[in-house]
Amino acid sequence: MSRREEILVEMGLTPIWKLRSREEAVFEKEVSTQEREKSPEKVSGWIGLKQAVPACTACGLHKGRAQTVFGVGDEDADWLLVGEAPGAEEDRLGDPFVGQAGRLLDNMLAAIDLARDDNVYICNVLKCRPPGNRNPEPDEVAKCTPFLLRQIELIEPRLIVAMGRFAAQTLLNTDASIASLRGRVHQYAGRPLIVTYHPAYLLRNLPDKSKAWADLVFARKTMSSL
Ligand code: URA
Repeated sequence: MSRREEILVEMGLTPIWKLRSREEAVFEKEVSTQEREKSPEKVSGWIGLKQAVPACTACGLHKGRAQTVFGVGDEDADWLLVGEAPGAEEDRLGDPFVGQAGRLLDNMLAAIDLARDDNVYICNVLKCRPPGNRNPEPDEVAKCTPFLLRQIELIEPRLIVAMGRFAAQTLLNTDASIASLRGRVHQYAGRPLIVTYHPAYLLRNLPDKSKAWADLVFARKTMSSL
């Protein structure tokens, strides 16, 4: 069994997705790299943001953090995946989604022929860990959201995947449930946005993995149609 088939089996799914050919993938990547040389404004934008996030003391979370968790991946990525907030492992290591939920996320990405450092950027709504992995408070989300919005401005992703309630509700400015937001293409600042379950939720609710798979396939199809 190939690694991809193993991943699909691990996720409780059967293969229903036909991957792009290697030539198509290479061509798309070359075009996207040519089109996306970083401007001096972007370079200085990233530098400013990377200084501002670790220096932030706007909410109480800064007191308990080991470090901020900025984001990881390709800063010119077509795909932007947004989660909720760092957990213990992320706080310790400084990268998003490095714990158990992160391993599931990596497997899900691999199943649709993506990888976290290849045309994908991953970050969270909150850059600091809430104590005891509690939910983010509204004022914490309000204080931290400008960092996420600036990341989106700088990355200019072609598609955003909001993983879980906090990412979806923050970016879509709604209090609607994930269930009601899934399966449609929303817009954030003129960019298509697709909602799916948070990987940590999927670890606790295994039957919903197939829905998350359907969401990713839908996201893939949407990206291909852009
Ligand atoms: N959950 C998140 O939302 N983000 C992480 O980085 C890790 C777990």
